[in-house]
Order: sequence, then structure tokens, then C-alpha cells
Amino acid sequence: MELTKIGEKTYYLKNATNIGIYQIDDHHVFLIDTGNDKDTGKKVLKIVEEQGWEISGIINTHSHADHIGGNQVIQERTNCPIYSYQSERAFTEYPILEPSFLYGGFPLEELKNKFLLAKPSHTTAIEDNLPNGLEFIVLRGHSCDHIGIKTSDDVYFLGDAVISLETIQKYHLFYLCDVKELLNSLDIVEQLDGKMFIASHNEAVENIQGLVQANRAQVQDILHTILTICQTNQTFENILQKIFEHYDMHMNLNQYFLISCTLRSYLTYLCNEKQLSYYFEHNQMFYQSN
Ligand SMILES: [Zn+2]
Repeated sequence: MELTKIGEKTYYLKNATNIGIYQIDDHHVFLIDTGNDKDTGKKVLKIVEEQGWEISGIINTHSHADHIGGNQVIQERTNCPIYSYQSERAFTEYPILEPSFLYGGFPLEELKNKFLLAKPSHTTAIEDNLPNGLEFIVLRGHSCDHIGIKTSDDVYFLGDAVISLETIQKYHLFYLCDVKELLNSLDIVEQLDGKMFIASHNEAVENIQGLVQANRAQVQDILHTILTICQTNQTFENILQKIFEHYDMHMNLNQYFLISCTLRSYLTYLCNEKQLSYYFEHNQMFYQSN
């Protein structure tokens, strides 16, 4: 993890999940997300201490385990507040909600793994609580109450509101929980006027428009694919299997539930847009394109 300066007061640590650092004065910093796990949290603490800084607060863009994984160890060591938005606070304080949400019931033991179940930490409402120089913007869709952060250096930390090209090519159906909100958030990000944009799993870039367009195009491709599959009536499991085959994806436990949750969100969107209907026959639920 290397500390990179990208503005007068703004830095980031390039990592599997990028971590933002904002200097609020000579000796105090805020973190934006804390990475995958306890080990990452410890590394961040060491780097911050080497600079002679103290952590005054953490902001989480959202509550996924790879963004809040270092929260607990950093909060235990520094007693810093962790700012989070609306329902993301509940998932951060009670992380069992994450595998439960994905599973749609009490989760299988195997789903309580480090990718889906973080250690709990205490949160504070982000509204009206940020220090001078930091602002949040609501960018829902990837998760229920996802936010982005703008620093006084006109640097935007976008969390997972925009996904890298590598992630799109590797996972195809990148995770989301609300298609309409995600498309709306892409429109918001496309209009932002910033000096630098840092999505959590991408390089820092000066221009984000191209990546926003690639994200939007992938969502449209997935919507089209689902509607094509549902030209004949299909059960949920059939659609899921055909999606995996269409995008040449390989099923494992985490992927099954992450993609199932994402696919259900696409089906909801298409039903709301009146492009898809569902009905029951012989005690089975079917979806069909209108
Ligand atoms: Zn995420």
C-alpha cells in the first residue's frame, strides 16, 4: 500500500479497495473506507502513524465488507467516530444483515465468510457532522444508501458507484441492489466537475465519463439479455442459469448469491418499467417479457 498525494490535503492508498485520506489539519486526518479486513486496518494505522498523523474519523462510502473491514481495529485503537449514511449504518453495526440480505433468509454458515461478513463497528450519522473540506453526495444503487465523498481539492471518492472495466470484464453482472437508482447515480457522476475521481477498485482518473458510459452500457446489455431470455416464460433459476451461460461465468457459493440478488433487482426494475411480468402456474413463479 503506497501513500499517493493527489491534492493539497487529499491522499489515497492504492489497495484492493482504495482508501482515501484527507488532512483536516497538520496532525489529523479522516479516512474514506478502511479496506478488506483487520490486517488492512493495521497497515493503514501504521502508514498514518509514520506520517505523524492521528485518525480523527472514518467515512464509509457503503457497508460492504471490503470497505468496512478495517473499521473495528482502527476504531478500537483510536476511538474515532465512523460516519455512515442511513441504512448503511445498520449493516455496519449488525454485519449479519449482509449475508442475510443476499441469502433472503437466515444465511448458510458458509456465507458468513470474510467477503460477506465484516466485524461490527459503531457508526455516527454523516449528516451535518463532517469537518470543513469534506462533503458527501448520495449515489444509491450499488447498495441501498451508498455515498460518494468530495474533498476541498475537488477530488471525488466514488466508492463502488462506478465499477472498473476489469471488474465488468471479469464479473459481467457486477453487483447492484437497485437498477433505477444506479442509473440515476451514473447520471450524477457523469455531470461532476472534479480534478480527480477515485472509484474503489480503479486507478485514480482525471476523466470519469468514459467509465460511466461503460457502466451504463453494461447495465443496458444485461437488461436486453434478460428480456431476450424471458421471451419464453422462465423461472428465476432458469434465468440465472442462462445468464451464467450467456456471460460465460462460473458458479460458486458467493457468486450464486451475489448474482441472484443482482438478478432479482434487474427483474424488479423490468417489472416496474412494465417490460416484464410475472405469474404463477403449478405452484411455480414465471417471468415473461411483455
Ligand atoms: Zn460494494
